[in-house]
Amino acid sequence: MKRVLSALKPEKVFEIFEDICAIPHGSGNTKAISDYCVNFARERGHFAYQDEMNNVIIRKPAAPGYGNSPAVVLQGHLDMVCEKEPELAFDFEREGLKLKVDGDKISACGTTLGGDDGVAIAIALAILDDTALKTPPLEIIFTSDEETGMYGVKALDGSMITAKRFISLDCGKEGAFTAGCAGGVCVTVNLPVETEKAQKAAYKVEISGLCGGHSGEDIDKGRLNANKVLGEFLKSLENVRISEISGGEKDNAIPSYAFAVIESKSNVITRRVGSGN
Ligand SMILES: [Zn+2]
Repeated sequence: MKRVLSALKPEKVFEIFEDICAIPHGSGNTKAISDYCVNFARERGHFAYQDEMNNVIIRKPAAPGYGNSPAVVLQGHLDMVCEKEPELAFDFEREGLKLKVDGDKISACGTTLGGDDGVAIAIALAILDDTALKTPPLEIIFTSDEETGMYGVKALDGSMITAKRFISLDCGKEGAFTAGCAGGVCVTVNLPVETEKAQKAAYKVEISGLCGGHSGEDIDKGRLNANKVLGEFLKSLENVRISEISGGEKDNAIPSYAFAVIESKSNVITRRVGSGN
């Protein structure tokens, strides 16, 4: 294999990253990359465990003099999102990625790179490989099929983890350390509804043209949520009856659009709610 990243530093991180880019590892196709990680650890004399979901747990003992330090988890996921340019003939099940370096940017020719979360595997294994590093006991966790629904971690045997400190190597921003994060929950609510024939003209109320954005990364920017604006508006009306209501596009996006078809005693057209953008 002709190495493309060998001039980059830290060398070991990019060497491992290039190795794993040569192993197909889309979600649902993680046995080979999981084996690579397990073999990497065992070749260096470390404990490595693989479960039937291809999740991997590796343990590195503390460096001399650091035995009393609390253990730390380094965590990442094995799978990557496989996207390619529409015209490109590329088999993510069998082919390794074709890497290129342009200035300070690494990319793959015509496909996604899998930096998320290949870089976590590369960093964690490089730390495992470095015998001179002064590290506490490490528990390295690589889970499978994170991108498609966290299936790996859901099946992981948590009793094998003893560390109380956890560093996730799966963040989008270089140089940024996140001290905590919000989770997400999908909720299905069934409400009993009664229907009746509409008596008056109906209005369609639309909230549109809002900024939207990522529900995690942009949540601190004070952006309006179309669903909440619509709810606030409907609450301000008298005797509102809803015939249709819908809003939001994705679980992880701030809704930029919502609408309702309603009937109300209030004069809908003159109503204004909300402020800002
Ligand atoms: Zn990720």
